[in-house]
Amino acid sequence: MLDEQGHLSCAVCDFDFEAKYGAHGAGYIECHHVVPLHVAGEGETKLSDLALICANCHRMVHRANPWLTIDQLRALITK
Ligand SMILES: [Zn+2]
Ligand SMILES: [Zn+2]
Repeated sequence: MLDEQGHLSCAVCDFDFEAKYGAHGAGYIECHHVVPLHVAGEGETKLSDLALICANCHRMVHRANPWLTIDQLRALITK
């Protein structure tokens, strides 16, 4: 998510690269296509088709086949 201050944090776990890595991590986040490109086919990518998530969550989404949804992965997180 991009908040009013321009900080990016993971849509699943709220990880904030800038909070963790300081200036080196500022502005970093990974971009996940919720609908696989080969399924979505040609055409414009809508903002709603993208999820901004951290590298860990990104790997975990792709670890399942078919991919987990953001909501499904969030439900798996144990604090
Ligand atoms: Zn995350
Ligand atoms: Zn992805």
